[in-house]
Parts: sequence; C-alpha cells; structure tokens
Amino acid sequence: MHMDAQTILTIIVAIATLNFALERWLDFLNRKNKKLQLPEELADVYDEAQYRKSMEYQQANDQFGAVSAAFGFLLTLMLLLTGAFGWLDGLLRPYVDNPVWLALVYFGILYVASDLINLPFQLYSTFVIEERFGFNKTNARIFVLDKLKGYLLTAIIGGAVLGLFIYLIITIGASFWWYFWIIASVLMVLINMFYTSIFVPMFNKLTPLADGALKQAIEGYSRKVAFPLDQIYVIDGSKRSSKSNAFFSGIGSKKKVVLYDTLIENHTTEELVAVIAHEVGHYKKKHIITGMVLSILQIGFTLFVLSLLVFNKELSLALGADQLGIHLNLIAFGILYSPISAMTGLLMNVISRKNEYEADAYATHTYGGRPLQQALKTLSVHNMSNLLPHAWYVFFHYSHPPLLQRLQAIRQEMRAKNSEQMVSFQDKNI
Ligand SMILES: [Zn+2]
Repeated sequence: MHMDAQTILTIIVAIATLNFALERWLDFLNRKNKKLQLPEELADVYDEAQYRKSMEYQQANDQFGAVSAAFGFLLTLMLLLTGAFGWLDGLLRPYVDNPVWLALVYFGILYVASDLINLPFQLYSTFVIEERFGFNKTNARIFVLDKLKGYLLTAIIGGAVLGLFIYLIITIGASFWWYFWIIASVLMVLINMFYTSIFVPMFNKLTPLADGALKQAIEGYSRKVAFPLDQIYVIDGSKRSSKSNAFFSGIGSKKKVVLYDTLIENHTTEELVAVIAHEVGHYKKKHIITGMVLSILQIGFTLFVLSLLVFNKELSLALGADQLGIHLNLIAFGILYSPISAMTGLLMNVISRKNEYEADAYATHTYGGRPLQQALKTLSVHNMSNLLPHAWYVFFHYSHPPLLQRLQAIRQEMRAKNSEQMVSFQDKNI
C-alpha cells in the first residue's frame, strides 16, 4: 500500500482530532455523572462540607484539564498544518551532519520547548489549584530543583537510549526492532530493580521505618504469609504534596516496601498492614511479573510496527520536511500508532482493574476486609478522588476500580471468608 504525504497528513490530523473529541466526550459524561449527594456508605468518613469541597476540587481540575487539553490540541494542529516539524528539521540540517546527533538535538529542542510551553500550566496546577485545596507542600526551590534533576536525568538516560535507538535504526536497518527490543526489555527490568535504590533517592529521602508497633505488625504479617520482606522505608512525600501512597519494589527475594510519611500519619496500624497486604497480594498473584511480561510484549509489537514505517519517506514529507528524517518519522509514527496504543492501554487497564480486585481479595482473606475498606475510604477522602466516575470514563482511563465498587467487592469476599470459616468450624465439630 502506497500513500502520499498529503493523505498521511490527513490521517494524522484526523487521528489527533478524533482523540481530542473522544476525550472531551468522556469528560462530559464524567461531569454529568457527578451527584451532589454524598454516597451513604461514606457517611462515616466524609462530612457534607468536606464532600462539597472535594466536588469543588474536581470541578477545578475538570476545567483546568479542558483548557490545557484544548490548548495542546490546537498547538499540535497548528504545528502539523504549518509543517513546523519539517521546518525545524530544515533549520538544523546545515549545522548538524551526523543523523544521530541531529535526532538528539531535534528532540532536545522539542523537549525544552514543550516543557517551557507547559510550564504555566504546571505552575497553575501546583501553586493555584493544589494550593487552594491544601494539597501543595512544595515550594519554588523544590520545584526548580525537581525540574533541573528531571532535565539532567532525561538528558543522560533519555539521550543515551534515544541515541542508541537511532544509531541501531541507521546501521542495522529494518531488523533493528528486535535488537532494540532486547535492550529495552533489559533496561526495563534494571530500572525496576534499582528504582528504590537509585531513582527515588534522587528526589526524596528514604528512611528505614523505626522500630515499633507498625514495624512489628508488618513483619508479623510478612512472616505469616511468607513474603520475602527485606526492608521497610518511609519516604518524605510530604515535602511535595499531602496526598499519600505506598509501593514496593525489587525483583527476586528482596522486597522493599515504601510507605509515604503522609500515609503513616493518616492511617491506623491495622489499616497500614491492610494496605501492605494488598501490595503483597499483587506479588503473590504474580501481577508484577505478568505486568512486566505484557509490557515487554507490547514494546516488541510497537517496535515491529515501527520497523515497517520508519524508513517511509512520505511520513517525513507529511510533516513538512523535504527529505527522510528518522526523528520526523518517529513523531509521525507516534500519532499514527496512537489508536493502537490506546487499544493496548485499554486492555492493560482491564487487566489492572481485575488485578486490583484480586489483591483486595487476597488482603481480605489473609488479613482483614474491614481495615482494608477503612484504609481505602480514608485514602479516597484524603486525596479527594472522584467517588462516582462514569462507567465509560472508568473503562478508558482507570487502572483501579472506583472506590464504591471496591468496597462492595471486599464485602463479598468477607462474606465468602466467613462462610469458609463456618464450614471449617463445623468440620471440627464433626
Ligand atoms: Zn493495587
């Protein structure tokens, strides 16, 4: 199938437009779904005033999201229709001969330009919206330092990976895809392994959890379910935001659990162990390994499709260039491929939501449903999450099921657990 540059540009613009329209439609459904009444189940953790505040928070974010999405869409459209991507390429070519360096300089300029354009939006989100609702804990110093570290990391790691990628494409030709697939897979595993020990400490301080009731409770639970716990850390998430979270990392037999200091502040020991039990559930049900395998397959497929298009000169011409540029083709491919990546993303979300239910069930059976429910409620109130997202919005965007569905599923698991215990109790009596 041969397509000329004009047709390709039309398809690219159509994809960007349809994607924008779909997002606006999902947002519209979500806004319509909002109820002013507080769901009965949450009456014990939410009062009316707090609930109203959370609705205001979501509304502020909705409006902000709509404005920044519209801005981004119009900017992309303008760049595509004026051939600005090709123009920049033509501007750089007389100065940079080497195609690898050309691509690095080209993407470097785009990265810095798009970050500068997005800066007002970032500042508004952090220092106006998050500030107004009491989430923001960051200050100008931390914000600037984060930016600088982010730039440095992107320049070093992103630059090295991108440079190698372009080099392989140019020197090996179309079969570059499986060379790079192996490299990307190894890199992904490495980053996952060293995430807590190298990357997190660049931005946050990790301190081992002090001895005490919480540590004993977590260690006791880990022993009970034979979870290879290596170390529990507390991360100073409170230096940026009062929102809380927990995660664990490490491959193989050494697991590091990381708890946000804000999480510890807002939850009881029982609730915190329930949160850990949920994370352990992900590990025991092999969600982390399967997630990684699926990501690796996804990367392989993407690279293969890319290998079919990366040398097609028409893609570069569609962006306004007068010759083939691998970097230009990467941008065109990014948009052309987005319907497929949206589909795989959707599938990943379906799997992820199923996994969340499984991890909840595991925590309910090995620890307790009630503290888990309590933890989820408190977390959702504290983070002011949307309690009633529209089903379609959830289908497209949520990696976790909405709170009320999770609470209901945990209730069912608790009933199942109780009837199991009744049966074994009766057995003993016979
Ligand atoms: Zn989870």
